[in-house]
This record gives sequence, structure tokens and C-alpha cells, in this order.
Amino acid sequence: MTDRIVPVVIVGARGRMGQALIQTVMSSDDLTLAGAVDRSGGPGKGQDAGKLAGMPEAGVVVTDELSPRRGNVVIDFSLPEATIKNINRCVDAETPLVLGTTGVGPEAIETLKQAARRIPIVAAANFSVGITLLLRMASLAAKSLGPGWDAEIFELHHRHKRDAPSGTALRIGKAVARATDRDIEQVGVFNRGGADRPREDQEIAMVALRGGDSPGEHTLMFLGDGERLELTHRAGDRAIFARGATRAAGWLADKPAGLYDMADVLGLK
Ligand code: NAD
Repeated sequence: MTDRIVPVVIVGARGRMGQALIQTVMSSDDLTLAGAVDRSGGPGKGQDAGKLAGMPEAGVVVTDELSPRRGNVVIDFSLPEATIKNINRCVDAETPLVLGTTGVGPEAIETLKQAARRIPIVAAANFSVGITLLLRMASLAAKSLGPGWDAEIFELHHRHKRDAPSGTALRIGKAVARATDRDIEQVGVFNRGGADRPREDQEIAMVALRGGDSPGEHTLMFLGDGERLELTHRAGDRAIFARGATRAAGWLADKPAGLYDMADVLGLK
């Protein structure tokens, strides 16, 4: 963490996460709100970002153009359509980027990797401290339990979530696969509908439920003969992701170019 107060620009400011981020930044002693951006059209443009998030006036107006200044850190929790453009804007302005948008495609991931040669980036499908630890525990358990234990993942999110399975479920699946020398591209199963076959030894299924207002639940099950181990994380409030992302922004402000994740931010590497 740098000892200066870090000016932060929030992208996706009108969204559920954007509002939680504005609230967290405005309540922080280490960060200050320098900008708020959302897409063109719709309500909120030209409005004060603090008021928009149910906070006191912030003196920052919501715009539809991301134009960060050197010294800012950008936090982007918007939608995948915007990701490549936002990454490029950060590279042009040489501003660090905290990227929380999930469901981004391979082209955006490639752009992210190239950009990380020029600017520092923290990208994570889940900024909660609990999930960061669950990923660690998933690797450890998969390695320790060995063959004879089937790994399966269940996730549940609010009815508005667009991508499935969640980016976090995919990360958990990857962690298990990598720890046991498997490739999730080969062994990941996303749909058993219409299947007429028993489970294959190596497969790792990810099942997505949608409904209600849950900010996210994930359970990794290791199913053995006569016993079952479950690792569950339940997010009770979006503020946990906002706290993780703002912690990442403060940490990232003085880091060299590179692609980091929450395990770096928490010092787990
Ligand atoms: P949301 O739909 O409530 O908000 C998205 C916001 O982005 C909207 O206000 C929308 O107008 C805005 N937007 C769309 N296109 C834009 C553009 N081109 N430029 C700027 N803004 C644009 O969604 P949400 O629940 O706030 O989630 C946002 C993203 O964050 C999703 O991808 C979600 O999966 C992800 N998310 C990540 C984490 C994490 O920890 N990494 C946690 C929760 C949500």
C-alpha cells in the first residue's frame, strides 16, 4: 500500500457493483473518488456520483468517457463489451487497472496480457478474501485427497447475472484441475442434460443456479466413498467485493507493470 491518497476512477458507476465501489471509496481513508464512468444513455449521466450511490455529494459527475489521468487507478466492474476499450484507455494514460468484470472473451484476455507488459493490473473473477483462500484450499485438498474423490462445483447467483458458470466457479475448477494435472478445457462439464452415461473419473462439473438477490455462493464438493468434503463460500453483501477491489487499488498504485491477482494483493504468493 502506497502512503499517498490514491485517486480512483470507477467504471460501471451506475451498476450494482459500481454503487458499492463508490460507497467504499468515499468511506475510505486511503482512496479518493476522482471519476465515475458509465455507458452512454440511461439515467445518471451528469449526476453527482456520491448522490447516485446514496452518499453525500462527491463533487464528481458521472460521465460516459473513460479518460483517466496519470496517478489515477481505474476500477472497472462493468460489462465484457467494454473491457478491451477500457484496458486500452488505461494503457494510453499509463494508469493501473483493477478489473473485476467477468465473462470476458479470449480477445479481451489477450489484450489484458499484452497491456500488463505496460501497466500494473489486478484481475480477479472474485475479489473476496474468502474466495481467494478457498482457491488455495481447493488446490491443497485436490492434491491431498488424490484419486477416488470426485470434484464437482455448485454456484448460485442473483437473477440478473448474465454469465454462467460464474468466473469464480471456473477459477475453482481450474485450481482443482491444475493441482491434479488436468486441463479444465478437457475435463470441465457444463451440462449433463440428456446424458446417458455414468460420470467419468476425470470430469469436473460446474452447475449454475440463478434467482433471487444472492451476490454469490460457491461450493466445491469432493465426493469420496462413504465421506464427502465440502468447501463453501457465501457472499452476504456486494461490499465484500468492493472492499477487496479497493484494497487491490491501493496496493496496485505503486507496483510495476504486471498481471496480478488477489493472492498477490493478500501476500499469499
Ligand atoms: P450491473 O449490470 O449492475 O452493472 C454494470 C454497469 O456497467 C451498468 O451500470 C452498465 O450501464 C455499465 N456499463 C455497460 N457498458 C458500459 C460501458 N461500455 N462503459 C461503462 N459502463 C458500462 O452489473 P454488476 O452486478 O454491477 O456487475 C458488473 C460486473 O462485475 C459483472 O461482470 C459481474 O459479473 C462482475 N462482478 C465481479 C465481481 C468480482 O469480485 N470480480 C463481483 C461481483 C460482480
